[in-house]
Order: sequence, then structure tokens, then C-alpha cells
Amino acid sequence: MEDPRRHLSDSDKMVLERLCSAGKAWIVGGWVRDILSDIQPKEVDYATSLMPREVMQLFPRNIPVGERYGTILVLKDEKTENHNDQNEETWEITTLRKDGSYGDGRRPDNVDFGHDILEDLSRRDFTINSMAIDGSNGELIDPFSGLEDLKSGILRAVGDAKTRISEDGLRILRAFRFINLENGKKRNLDNDLSDAIRQNVAMLDNVSEERKWNEFSQIISSSNANDILESMEGHGVLSRILPGISISSVNEIRLSADSTVSLALLCNNDSRSGPDLASYLKSILKLSNEEENVISFLHDIPKEAIEEKNDSILRIFRSCISEKMQLKMADYFGPKGEEYLQHSKDLKPLTAGKLPLIDGEHLMEITGLEPGPRLGRLKDWLQRKQIEEDLGTKEDVLQLLETINWREEDPESWGSLSWP
Ligand code: ATP
Ligand code: MG
Repeated sequence: MEDPRRHLSDSDKMVLERLCSAGKAWIVGGWVRDILSDIQPKEVDYATSLMPREVMQLFPRNIPVGERYGTILVLKDEKTENHNDQNEETWEITTLRKDGSYGDGRRPDNVDFGHDILEDLSRRDFTINSMAIDGSNGELIDPFSGLEDLKSGILRAVGDAKTRISEDGLRILRAFRFINLENGKKRNLDNDLSDAIRQNVAMLDNVSEERKWNEFSQIISSSNANDILESMEGHGVLSRILPGISISSVNEIRLSADSTVSLALLCNNDSRSGPDLASYLKSILKLSNEEENVISFLHDIPKEAIEEKNDSILRIFRSCISEKMQLKMADYFGPKGEEYLQHSKDLKPLTAGKLPLIDGEHLMEITGLEPGPRLGRLKDWLQRKQIEEDLGTKEDVLQLLETINWREEDPESWGSLSWP
């Protein structure tokens, strides 16, 4: 086998060499798995014989993200220019471990640092994730035949599946994430692992909302999402992480590469209102405010809304909905949504733009109305009409005042500035 270290970038090599100059180091985790499967790895994780304090001394720019558990996040020495913080290269460096017991079903109660890479690999989750590459000579260390499982497409727990799953509920979701292969193919759950998951679904209740969404969002936006969801359903996992939600039939629905849109699609049969559904999902999956807003918006769009494709309503759509939301809406409704979006884009730009030609002060002068709901609604209604009819001058807009009884009508009956 060729030396896998040649796939490391220059900065990855620099980190590895520095670790090897002070102690022992191995490449572990997803990088090894992905390189051996001809997949472009996302990040490199290192294991080392050095203690967390030593790693911190060796790499002065670091974040002790899990010092207690031996994990230090290392950043490049010099902050390179034109880097915004989110794109900065980082490496997770973890001191060799031998775990204690798992009292909370998620994290080991105590972590003992070890000296043996084999022992460290034996506490990892799946055989394909429990291989290491020796940093000093590039040799593959594969005590659980991970390479064989990788080649035959089997996801197998390290050691006794029931014990490993009952130690840590997060492994259930990780299992479903790892059965996805990016080329549209899937790995198969080994029978023991499958049984262990079925028997231990309650372990999911020990996993934090944030971690659940971190894994689940990757699953529902993956190329095999329907198949994986079907399997999750069969194992009793889906209803456990979305309790009380009326989940759509997973083998029939179309999902998206956008995890928020996929989640909305998965829940689109639920009878709650958009805001209620979104806030409930936020509470069980720790969604961000933005994700909450997207789901709330999408869930409340009536199906008929995208059937109605006249220029007036399309202009309102284009003016009142942010471009980001427009794309989410198109994605949510699939081909019909894309068509709707395209129609709205094909319209010529608004003659006078979307800002109101008649502002509040001007409207007060003309009507004599005091500031308040009536004036506010009237201003919005005029602006809506300006957009719908693509009016170009103040005179055009003012003429509208003659078409309604703005002094006496209920302002609530006037169309507001929103879509649909
Ligand atoms: P990714 O490509 O998504 O980073 P990964 O396998 O590297 O996948 P990480 O979360 O970075 O996942 O974890 C690194 C390694 O740590 C894993 O490959 C696995 O060996 C081990 N590991 C992570 N989480 C667990 C867990 N809950 N239980 C046991 N081992 C774990
Ligand atoms: Mg990783």
C-alpha cells in the first residue's frame, strides 16, 4: 500500500511532524476511513501520546475544547490574511485514552489517558472509524478489520454492539450517518449492530438536542436520505428523535440537500401552525433562530399559493420575500416551486422600485389621518398596490385613494405587504 500520508496537505503534515518530534502521533478517525475509500476527507484528527498540556505548549494557538477528555483544537500558528474565522484550518488533537464508565449514557464519567494506540482504537465506535495511520512511518494499524468492512460496505461496532450502543446513544445516530456513502451507495448495518440499536433506542434520550440535530441534519440532507430514514423508522429511531410529530411517509417524500428544508418536508403533514411547529422543533433539536424562521415560513405556505402565478402576486413574492427564502420555498415545493421562482424572475424590474412612492408624512398631509393603525395599513396597502400593478408615479398611487373609502372601511380588510 502506498504511504497514505502523501494525501496530507502541507499544513496537515506540519502539524503531524511537530507532534512526532515531541512524542508519538497517529492519524485517526474519518480521515483514515475516507482516504481508504477514495473520498475527499473533511478534516484530520490526530491521536497522540502527549498530554493535553504538552499539546497546548507545542501549538500556542489552540482552543482547549475538551481538555478534560484530552481534546485540544489546534489552529495555524500565524493567522493568515484574508481568512475569516469560520474558514480557518483547525485540527483536533486527542491524547490517547482508555475510557472509564459511561454513567450518563453519553460521556465517559472519567477519562484515563493511556499509552497504547490499540487501547485507544478499541474505545472508538465503528470498525471503519477505528483505524490509525502511524505518523512516523505511514503504516496502517487496523486491529478490528476496518479495511475489510470498508471494502464490503459493512458498518460494524467495535467489540460487542449492545455494550457499545448502551454506553453512548449518540452512536445510534452516527451509525445512520455513516451508512451513507456520497456516491449514492449505502453501507449496511451489521446484524448485531442493528439489533443493538433496536434494543437501545431509549438511549437517544440521553443525547443533547444540539448533537441530535448535528447528526440528523447531515442524514436528512444526504443523497440516501430516504433509504436511511426508512431504516431509522424501522429501528424506532425516527419517532424517538421527533416525538409527537406527524412524520411524512419517508419512502414517498422528496427531500432536499438543504437540511432545514428537508426537516420541514418531513414534518409537512403535521397539523401545528408554522410558528408552533418551528418552535417545537427548535426545542427538541436546538435549531438556530434562522432555521426556526425558515420552517415556520415554509410550513404555513398553502399549496394553492404556488399554483397562482399571476404577475401581481409574483411581484409581491419577489419584493416581500428575501432571496434566500425564495430559494428555500422553491426547494420545498420542488419543480412547481422552481417554476414559480422562475416566473417571478422573468418579470421585468419594478418601474419605481419596491420602496413606497408615497411615504407616511406625505400620506398624513393628504388625508389628514393621525399616526396609527389606519394610517399604517393604508400606507402598506398603497405600497402593495404600487408593487402589484407596477405603478411608476406618485399620481398613479394617489389615484388609488379614490377607489376605497379609506376614512371608514375596516383597515384590516386592506391587503397587507406580505406573501402569500
Ligand atoms: P467526520 O468525517 O464527520 O469528521 P469522524 O469519524 O472523523 O467523521 P469525528 O466526530 O470527527 O467523526 O470523530 C473522530 C473519531 O472519534 C471517529 O472516527 C471515532 O473513531 C471517534 N468517535 C467520535 N465520536 C465517537 C463516539 N460517540 N463514540 C466512540 N467513538 C467516537
Ligand atoms: Mg473527524
